[in-house]
Amino acid sequence: MPFDPNIPIQQRVSMLSRTTDRLSAQDILQGVLDGRAGKIAMVSSFGADSVVLLHMIAQIDQSTPVLFLDTRMLFRATLLYQKDVTDHLGLTDVRVITPDPGEVLVRDNEGLLYHADTNACCVLRKVEPLQNALRGFDGWITGRKRHQSQTRAQLDVWEDDGAGRLKVNPLAGWNVDDLQNYMNTHNLPRHPLVTKGYPSIGCEPCTFRQKPELDARSGRWAGQSKTECGIHLPSPTS
Ligand code: SF4
Repeated sequence: MPFDPNIPIQQRVSMLSRTTDRLSAQDILQGVLDGRAGKIAMVSSFGADSVVLLHMIAQIDQSTPVLFLDTRMLFRATLLYQKDVTDHLGLTDVRVITPDPGEVLVRDNEGLLYHADTNACCVLRKVEPLQNALRGFDGWITGRKRHQSQTRAQLDVWEDDGAGRLKVNPLAGWNVDDLQNYMNTHNLPRHPLVTKGYPSIGCEPCTFRQKPELDARSGRWAGQSKTECGIHLPSPTS
């Protein structure tokens, strides 16, 4: 049984990749959330198209744990949208994950670390808090998609997160039209910044408006070689 958390993670990823390649995103989620895969969390930025996966999860189980990383650097619009979407979908276990205040005091007291070192800032405000929040879970669900950037073009639906957990990307193969159609069909609330030129939304200091012909994530850390915050890089065992 490939969902069994007692099977070694790489074996499970391999079995799931072979046997579920024709399943819909909803069927993948149904299989992951029915308990056979162990304790599973959804990790959501409540960003530009997060509402699609959140809606699918709410249709299956509104009490699914949803981890929302509030770096303390987000747009106010995102914080308001997170509350709106949570209420709209009836999600009952959204956990707001914040950086350790003691570590922020020591490592980024002025809140300007992103100026000097975006990687160190992301580790402090995203990577470490998420690693802590994922302790006790057997797997997690993300909303990443292949179309978002060149670095995500080969994204698999099933991954080993590097810390012994299953990582599931049910929307890996979805494109912009798929997402728009789903949001229209279900009349879902939109992040207000999308219509202002932000197709991908992260922290305010590192998210920029972008030209529509570029990759969805090209406005993130624009002008830098950085393309990922680090939460999707292999984790140390935790
Ligand atoms: Fe810091 Fe920018 Fe990373 Fe947010 S995206 S944690 S502000 S470097």
